[in-house]
Order: sequence, then C-alpha cells, then structure tokens
Amino acid sequence: MVKMLIAGEQTDATATDELEVVDPATEDVYETVPAGGVDAVELAVQAADAAFPEWSRTDAEKRAEILRKALDLVGEHRDEIVETLTHEQGKPTLEAAGELQHFVHGMHYYADLATKVRGAYQELPSTLGRSYGMVIKRPVGPVAAIVPYNYPLTLMGTKIGPALAAGNTVVVKPASSTPLATLRVAELFHEAGLPAGVLNVVTGRGATIGDALVGHPLIRRVAFTGETGTGRHVAALAAPTFKRISLELGGSDPMIVCPDVDVKAVIKSAVIARFWNAGQSCLAAKRLYVFDEVYDELVGGLAQELERYECGTGWTKPEKPKLRMGPVHTKGGRQELAEQLEDAVSRGAKVLVGGGPPEGADKGYFFRPTLVEGAPHDSRLVQDEVFGPILPVFRVKDIDEAIRLANDTRYGLGSSIWTHDARYIDRAAREIEAGMTWVNQIHYGYDELPFGGLKESGLGKEHGLEAMMDHYFETKSVVVGGLG
Ligand code: NAD
Repeated sequence: MVKMLIAGEQTDATATDELEVVDPATEDVYETVPAGGVDAVELAVQAADAAFPEWSRTDAEKRAEILRKALDLVGEHRDEIVETLTHEQGKPTLEAAGELQHFVHGMHYYADLATKVRGAYQELPSTLGRSYGMVIKRPVGPVAAIVPYNYPLTLMGTKIGPALAAGNTVVVKPASSTPLATLRVAELFHEAGLPAGVLNVVTGRGATIGDALVGHPLIRRVAFTGETGTGRHVAALAAPTFKRISLELGGSDPMIVCPDVDVKAVIKSAVIARFWNAGQSCLAAKRLYVFDEVYDELVGGLAQELERYECGTGWTKPEKPKLRMGPVHTKGGRQELAEQLEDAVSRGAKVLVGGGPPEGADKGYFFRPTLVEGAPHDSRLVQDEVFGPILPVFRVKDIDEAIRLANDTRYGLGSSIWTHDARYIDRAAREIEAGMTWVNQIHYGYDELPFGGLKESGLGKEHGLEAMMDHYFETKSVVVGGLG
C-alpha cells in the first residue's frame, strides 16, 4: 500500500479501508492506497493551516529555490514516475512522459514568478492628513486542490505551482483512481526540503473527502478541475463560507477547418487534437466542422490516418508504422461512450471508422478511435462532453454556419480555426464563445497563457501570471497616515 502524505509523514492512520488502483489496460489491481475519510481531511487541513504562517513569510527566493530543487529531484526519478503514471492512468509511456515534462515546465514557470510579485503605490488626498496608499498582495491561506484522473500531474501542477510560489499551503485530493504519481511527487518535494504541512495529499473517495475538504472552514480557496456536474456541487459547497474558487470543467471544443488549408497537415493535427490521451482531454477537438470545399479529402484522409492506431498497453510499442492508443480510464467511461455513440447512430449517424472495443480484446477498457458522420446536432454525441476517442464531423458551407454550430453547446472551453484568411481568424477570435481559440494549432494548454472556460466550462483561470495574481493572492489596501 502507498500511504497518504500528511504533515510531512506517510500515513494511513485514519483510513478505515483501502482503495484499489486498477490498471485500465489489464484490469488488474496495480496498487492500493488508504481510503481516507473525514478524519484524514481534518489532519491534512490542520497541517496546512499550521504550516501557513511560516511558509507565507518564507523569503520568495527561498520558496523558489525549494521548488526548483524539488523539480530536479522529480527529474532524477523521471522513469519511475512515468511508469507509475502509465499504469495507473492507462496512457502510453510517451504521453505519460509528456505529461511529466509539462508538469515540470509549469512548476518552473511559477517558481520563477515567486520573486516577481508586485503591488502598487497610490497618492491620496490630504483631507485626513498627509497619507499614501499601498495595494499589497497577501497569500490566501490553505488551498484545496482537487484533481481529475485524465492528467493527474499537470492538473495538480496548475494548482500547487501558483499556490506554493505565492506562499500558500495546499491539501491535494487526487482522483481516487490516480493517486500514485501524485503521492510520489509530493514525497520528493518533501525530500527536497519543502517544510512539513506545506503540501499534503489525502486519498479516498471523492464524495467523502471532497465534500469534507471543500466545506472545511480553514480552507480559504478551492481549485477544482473535473466534470461540470461535480463542479456545480463543489461551487454550492464553497458558497456558504465565500471561499475563493476556480472551476475548470468539461468542454466540447469545436475545430473549424476552412478551405485554404494544407489538408494533410490538418489531418495530422486533428488526430492529435482529438485522440491524444485516448480522447480524454478537457481541451480536445471534440467536434470537427469542415468547409464543403475540403470536406471529402479531409474526412477520407482522416479515416485512413486513424487506421494507423492500435489499441494496447501503454508500456509496449506497436510495430511501425502503427501508433499506440491506450485504454480509456474506466469501464463506466467506456460504457458511456458506447451509449453516446448508439444515441447518434440510432438517429442516423454513420460510423466511418472504429465504433467500439477492438476485436478480441478481452481485457482492458479499450475503445477504437472512431469517426462519425451525420450525427444530429442535438444528439448526445454532440451536446454531451464525449470523454473518449470519438470524433463527429460536419460539413459546413461557410463561416457563419461554422460559428453558429461551434457555439451550439453549453460548453465554452477551447476552440480552433484552421486557415490563413485574416477575415475568418478575426470572426473566430471575436465570435466563438470559448476561453481560448487556437489558430492553426492543436488545443494545447500553454503554461504562459491564462486559460479557463466560459458558460458551463467553468469559472476563473489557471495558467499564466493571471492565475497566480488573481487567484492565489488577496488584494489588500493599506493606508499609511500620520505623516504630518
Ligand atoms: P470528476 O468530476 O469525476 O472528478 C474530479 C475530482 O473531483 C476527483 O478528484 C474526484 O474524486 C473529485 N470529487 C468527486 N466528488 C466530489 C465531491 N463531492 N466533492 C469534491 N470533490 C469531488 O472528474 P473526472 O471524471 O476525474 O475528470 C474528467 C472531467 O474533468 C472531464 O469533464 C474533463 O473535461 C474535466 N477536465 C477539465 C479541465 C479544464 O481545465 N477545464 C481539465 C481536465 C479535465
């Protein structure tokens, strides 16, 4: 059993039972962790609260130095962490290594920012005597970081990076099915000199420990990434005590392809944009709108390219020129994909490639990359968030139709447009209702740019200077008077 990390100690002290971490590619139990309960949350929050005064006063240079040292140590244990992530999450080793690299890059970004925090000076009227004002930044206090299963490390990093750099302490709650790489990384942070209680990790079932954590009076800020439904619940729990919250929720990103593109290059990008991580990315091109002029060439080429994928275990490589795709993370997730697809097919959609688990696969939650044409726009395959390797494609006649359909969703996370025509780029930038629009690029979350959703995709931002300044500090005004 791999234990929780509370107040710098590995512990299963308050756990009543254990959780099995199942390898989605084999369906075997890979490891177990304690199923922490409300008591574990209490210990972790108390530890974070006790550690806050000293950590928040620690020199910013020193905080940055500890974080950089921790990241070096993580780098030294790269292979072991990548292996763990591959087994607990299901993603191929190449993708797990990419995730770890992204985590390290993002954490460095915030370590560098730790020393760049500034406030402001303000002249004041002398009505009450000569005085001046300052606008200062104070860390918020203990933070709850709630992380989903699809990117356990990078999505922890987008929370603990700005939180720790700003001088806050954290209790991390990983998804119950992906706690292992998280625990290992947190342990290495302590080995590198992070003081006890500054970073705690509790493991357990979401409903039990998530509720206890979000509702805890000592938690001042909740950084949540997960499904829109869970986010709604978390927002309601945080409301009575007016906790600061950010909610990074579901998405259904449109990808619009205009007639002037290099079709072959766009096909390669579309495959990555949709099928990376077996399609389980919040930022994935989940609906493809293609101008009539290039539709047949693009869809035909895409179907061919998808045939190159082979489903299999993340730690093995297929024979070239095949590409590896891992399983989806849970059996329930695969079942939901099948139901979403069936809903569209029963209403006239046509499956061009894939359509379900590969033939003969008796173990593992595999689902073949799937391309669908003619799905009704009000079907589940278009209106739900489809969290797996299925891509519906649509033929559009012009930019008006493309943008209208792109916005026909309750989500508003990412979006992309593929063209060099400035008029189309301008329309997309202004009119697509999303937190981000990529032009001729796959939907990738840069650490340097603020990112967050509109509509039911969430609230607040992660990444960038904005995430740290707006969400991990309180802005306080100070008036200095008595100056004569
Ligand atoms: P989920 O909502 O099921 O779980 C997310 C986290 O919330 C887990 O740690 C879970 O244990 C916890 N949780 C569950 N019940 C809780 C409760 N009552 N109180 C507090 N926490 C609770 O999400 P998931 O299935 O793990 O992840 C996939 C979802 O995350 C998708 O919808 C995806 O789009 C979304 N996501 C969004 C972003 C983004 O940046 N917008 C990024 C990645 C994933």
